[in-house]
Amino acid sequence: MSVYSGPVFDMAAEQFGVIANHLSIPFDERDRLLLPKRAVIISCPIHRDDGSITVFEGYRVQHHLTLGPTKGGTRFAPSVDIGEVAALAIWMSWKCALVGLPYGGAKGGVRVDLTTLSKRELEGLSRRYMQEMIPFVGPHTDVMAPDMGTNEQVMAWFMDTYSMYQGRTVTEIVTGKPVSSGGTLGRREATGRGVAHIAKRVLNELSINLGTATAVIQGFGNVGSYAALELHRFGLKVIAVSDHTGALHDPSGLDIPALIRHAGTHGSIAGFSNQLQFDPEQIFALSCDVLVPAAMERVIDAQVAANLKCRVLAEGANGPTTPDADLVLEKRQDEVFVIPDILCNAGGVIVSYFEWVQDLQQLFWEEEEVTRREYQILDRAFDQMVTRARVDKISHRTAAMAIGVEKVRAGKNIRGLFP
Ligand code: NAD
Repeated sequence: MSVYSGPVFDMAAEQFGVIANHLSIPFDERDRLLLPKRAVIISCPIHRDDGSITVFEGYRVQHHLTLGPTKGGTRFAPSVDIGEVAALAIWMSWKCALVGLPYGGAKGGVRVDLTTLSKRELEGLSRRYMQEMIPFVGPHTDVMAPDMGTNEQVMAWFMDTYSMYQGRTVTEIVTGKPVSSGGTLGRREATGRGVAHIAKRVLNELSINLGTATAVIQGFGNVGSYAALELHRFGLKVIAVSDHTGALHDPSGLDIPALIRHAGTHGSIAGFSNQLQFDPEQIFALSCDVLVPAAMERVIDAQVAANLKCRVLAEGANGPTTPDADLVLEKRQDEVFVIPDILCNAGGVIVSYFEWVQDLQQLFWEEEEVTRREYQILDRAFDQMVTRARVDKISHRTAAMAIGVEKVRAGKNIRGLFP
C-alpha cells in the first residue's frame, strides 16, 4: 500500500512485476525502479466568471532522473488522481527508454471537468497550474507536454507563464506548442501518425491488403483523429469511431476528413449524423482489421479481450489493456497482433523530443524531416520488440517493457543510488 495505490497505479505495478520476474530482477532492486523519484500535489485557486473562487487539485510525478530530464504530458480530466498520474509517468519511462530518448518519465494533471470551465477559466487554471510548478520543472529538469484534455493552446499558456516568470522566452519548457510559439511542424499529428505507421507495417507483414482493410477507433481527440486520418489516407475504411458523446458506425467507411472538420467546429462527433449512430459499448466487439483504443486506460479487460474481433490491436491510448486481458491476448497471439502502447503511441514523445532539441538549438526542421526521423525511430524499436518477443517467446508487451526496464536499470546500476 502506498500513496499511489489505486486501480491504474496497481496495474502499472502488476505489469512491472511481470517484467521484473521475467528479467529476474532481485526483489530489493524493484522498488527503486518502480517508485517515482518525486511527486508534487498543488492547489490551484482560480477566479470563476461569476466572481467566486474554486480550488482545483493538481499533480506532477517525476519517475526517474537517471537518463536525463523527465518528460511527460499534462492531463485535465475528472478521473485524474496521484495514482493515475504516477502510473502514466512510469509508462513514460519505459516508453522513452524503449525508443532511446534521453529522458525519464513524468506526468501531470488536474482533476477537473472541462465542460464546467469557460475559456477564460481554463486559461486561469492552466496558468495557475504552471505557476505552482515553476520550482519543480525546467528545460533540463522536467519538460511538460499535452495529454488528454490539454492542447497547443494550453501549452502556449504554460510556456508564456513560465517565460514571464523568467523574464525571457523559454520555449523549451514545454513541447506540443503551436508552431507560431516555438512548436515543431509535425507534433500535432505525430502520435496518430505513428500509430497508423506501425499499424500499416503490421498489416503489410500479415499480407492484409490496405485497400480492403477496415479500422475502428475509440476516442476522436488528438490521437484518434490523426490516426483515423492517416489510416484513411492509406486506403483503409474507418468503419466506426467513438468519443465521450457517442459512436458512429458505417460499414462502407466514414468520411473522416468531414468528421474531423465537424469535430473541430463542434468539439465532438455529436450531431454529425443521426443515421450512423451506434452503441459505444459495442465498439470493441466490431469485426475489423485494426482496432485503435485512443481514449482512456483499462478499457480492454479480460472479457473484452476474449471477444475482440480485430486482427491488429494498435494501442493509441496509454494503458488501455489490463494485465488480465494481456493473459487472454497471449493465448490469442495468432489471432490478434498487439502493438503495445509504449511503442504504438511513442511517436508523440519522439517528436516532442525533436521539438525540445530544435528549441534548445533555435534551429528548425522541415516537416518531412520530422516525420522521417519519427518513423525511423519507431521502426527500429518495432524491430527490436518483435525480435525480442520471438527469441524469448514472450508477448510484445513484455518484450517492449523488458527493453525499456533494462535500459533504465542499467543506467541506475552504473550511476548508484541517487538518480
Ligand atoms: P484528447 O483529449 O485530445 O482526446 C481524448 C478523446 O477521448 C476525446 O475524443 C474524448 O471525447 C474521448 N473520450 C473520452 N472519454 C471517452 C469515452 N468514455 N469513450 C470514448 N471516447 C472517450 O486526448 P489525446 O491527447 O488524444 O489522448 C488520448 C489517449 O492517448 C490518452 O490515453 C493519452 O494518454 C494517450 N496519448 C496521447 C498522446 C498525445 O500526443 N496527445 C501521446 C501518447 C499517448
